[in-house]
Amino acid sequence: TTFADLGLSEPILRAVAESGYLYPTPIQEQAIPIVLMGRDVMGVAQTGTGKTAGFTLPMLDILAGSRAKARMPRSLILEPTRELALQVAEQFVKYGKHLNLNHALLIGGESMNDQRDVLEKGVDVLIATPGRLLDLFDRGRILLADCKVLVIDEADRMLDMGFIPDVEKIVSFLPKLRQTLFFSATMAPEIRRLADQFLSNPKEISV
Ligand code: AMP
Repeated sequence: TTFADLGLSEPILRAVAESGYLYPTPIQEQAIPIVLMGRDVMGVAQTGTGKTAGFTLPMLDILAGSRAKARMPRSLILEPTRELALQVAEQFVKYGKHLNLNHALLIGGESMNDQRDVLEKGVDVLIATPGRLLDLFDRGRILLADCKVLVIDEADRMLDMGFIPDVEKIVSFLPKLRQTLFFSATMAPEIRRLADQFLSNPKEISV
């Protein structure tokens, strides 16, 4: 299988080739066609499997093929730590280099004013840790009404770090009709309950 076989469009295939990737990893092979189809995904995969590209590549494809409504973010990626959020943002920029999409990185320890300025210009994707996202939302800085693609990454770590109430609150502000991609390294009963709560008829994939 090649990346082209998975249904990704040309500007993304070009960025993938420029990243030096020859073949999709197993999680990418499974996830990319399902995400492009618009389905929810429950993915059991560790860091290091290539799961970030597994959700970022098809998300970029979906965003590139649809129009933004009044500069509102159309996609939200939630990460448990600032380090992970930073890594995702780096990959987003790398794979999206031939597309005209932008993002805001909303993490603790960075200037709230800078993040507010970025948001004011209008962004396509929010890459955030739950605490900082809620903080900005509560200050009226973020509109989530057009956020129709949600990624909950590293759900098991979100749980360990006590972020689930924040995640539930954030999800309550998103449109009911949306696509949700949920990833966890483990599939404990508590994680499955969360997946049931956030996902609708998901396709389960595991590597
Ligand atoms: P992740 O599991 O998403 O943290 O990715 C782990 C590392 O694998 C990252 O540094 C990616 O740049 C790299 N990577 C992702 N997909 C591929 C691929 N198909 N071929 C080679 N490297 C990849």
